[in-house]
Amino acid sequence: MTDDCIFCQIVAGEIPGRIVHETETTVAFLDANPLAPGHTLVVPKTHHETIGDMPADVARDVFAALHELVPRIESAVDADASTVGFNNGTAAGQEVPHVHGHVIPRFEGDGGGPIHVAAGSRPDLSDAELDDVADGIRASD
Ligand code: 5GP
Ligand code: ZN
Repeated sequence: MTDDCIFCQIVAGEIPGRIVHETETTVAFLDANPLAPGHTLVVPKTHHETIGDMPADVARDVFAALHELVPRIESAVDADASTVGFNNGTAAGQEVPHVHGHVIPRFEGDGGGPIHVAAGSRPDLSDAELDDVADGIRASD
């Protein structure tokens, strides 16, 4: 628990949240400023800022909660699909520094776009540059 973290406070029951699902290690609650009906946030109960900060078992539990909830949320609001994602770090738009997965129900003709629009303009990478990037990721293990 981090005292000044709003999501830790929701997990602890210190501020209200519309909790829709809870496990030993995760909580899911409605987003206070939803992008669509049913917009839900899935968080670990323990405070970690980003995906990489979570221990592997916590990360697995967060994904398991998403796996359980996504079809239930879609069904509850009669959505056609959903966009599921993390703003992972401030440069990616993360505002609350307690890792959270967004489940955003999507509807035919809702005017939104695919997750690709989140990244800005596409780089023009040569095959050699792509090979270098892949090598760098492999070597980082
Ligand atoms: P981020 O930009 O960090 O990925 O998204 C943070 C999300 O948390 C936003 O969608 C915002 O509406 C939501 N949010 C911020 N404060 C609160 C709060 O106090 N309660 C709930 N339920 N959601 C919040
Ligand atoms: Zn927190």
